[in-house]
Amino acid sequence: MNIAIVGSGLFGRLLAWRLNELNQGIKITLIDEKDRHFFGTGLVAAAMVAPYTEAVNTEASTQVLGARSFQLWQEWLPQLEAQTNKTISFLQTGTLVISHPQDEADWHRFSLKAKAVVKQDQMQLLGASELHALEPQLPDNFKQALFFEHEGVVNNLALYPALNDYFEQSANITLIENQKIALPETIAQSAYLTEIEQGFDHIFDCRGNGARDDLKDFRSVRGEVARVYAPEVDFKRAIRLIHPRFPLYIAPRENHEYIIGATQIESEIDTPVTVRSGLELLSALYSLHQGFGEAQILDLLVGLRPTFIDNQPRIKTHQKLSRLNGLYRHGYLFAPALINDLPSQFTKGMLSHD
Ligand SMILES: Cc1cc2nc3c(=O)[nH]c(=O)nc-3n(C[C@H](O)[C@H](O)[C@H](O)COP(=O)(O)OP(=O)(O)OC[C@H]3O[C@@H](n4cnc5c(N)ncnc54)[C@H](O)[C@@H]3O)c2cc1C
Repeated sequence: MNIAIVGSGLFGRLLAWRLNELNQGIKITLIDEKDRHFFGTGLVAAAMVAPYTEAVNTEASTQVLGARSFQLWQEWLPQLEAQTNKTISFLQTGTLVISHPQDEADWHRFSLKAKAVVKQDQMQLLGASELHALEPQLPDNFKQALFFEHEGVVNNLALYPALNDYFEQSANITLIENQKIALPETIAQSAYLTEIEQGFDHIFDCRGNGARDDLKDFRSVRGEVARVYAPEVDFKRAIRLIHPRFPLYIAPRENHEYIIGATQIESEIDTPVTVRSGLELLSALYSLHQGFGEAQILDLLVGLRPTFIDNQPRIKTHQKLSRLNGLYRHGYLFAPALINDLPSQFTKGMLSHD
């Protein structure tokens, strides 16, 4: 069997890997309009896997899918490490949700919603001493927190190169770079597929924002993050700051690096980070630890989140084309759970059709 996966972003590359792991001799051609090192949306992302904090303001399904993905990352990443001899950390130290004293009303509102939505064994209310035992460097004016223990952060900067290595060493996977593909409703109209590679038994469209013109009810949502190096700061876990105007999160990476995110703007324009967004992200950050004042700004990055009108992901199959899209702000949170059963359903001819 010969299949094409168009788009080697998060969805596409995870699908190629898991499909190849079935060991059924399927020939996989992974095609992207950029090269394999391109720094796209999946690398701009903070890569937090936060089923419970994200469930508070989204659908009930978020925590079910997200908790499943959390488990799958725990299983999958050691496999990929063994296959590629690379280290890909999955920091599993949980998330703290805090606010400045003046924003306590907003924090209480978040807590009330969390109590209504999140499974009670997945969250704890911490007082000052418990909070400072977990994060001793937080200033004393933070006196309470919600703690979601089973949340984490994937090191996506290590994941992508490891998957590149895996593809390079896999006899059944062919990478085609710098090749833009159109997949309109009638895929026969697609120039590349008709002229060069007519022989695919099935095509998976994983183009994210690149599929915008071919999908109804689809939009992109702009997000901006800062990446800083802060040698004086030693936070061990993700921290979300509830703030009426600039809610933000800090996702720790190795070696005192932190991703600060993220703006959420209804825009399909991916021009560089604005002064306003940069100021919002960085000023709120400084209030969490003065050591951030001396931090070095390594990057200010922009990404577009591929999003359907209802903010929910969709997998739709029609004849020999399956479209996987709409991961929105939940690529790392949802993709493993969505992809896990797909390869075996596909080989058994059990993909659910439109
Ligand atoms: C600022 C920001 C922060 C985020 N933080 C998180 C987070 O903490 N946790 C989380 O779970 N998610 C997060 N996300 C969301 C996550 O990054 C996305 O949901 C995910 O990357 C989408 O994956 P995808 O494979 O659908 O699209 P992409 O990763 O964008 O991949 C699409 C691929 O298709 C290729 N392509 C496009 N058009 C064509 C074409 N015509 N022909 C060939 N190839 C094409 C592109 O080059 C790209 O490689 C964040 C996103 C942003 C922007």
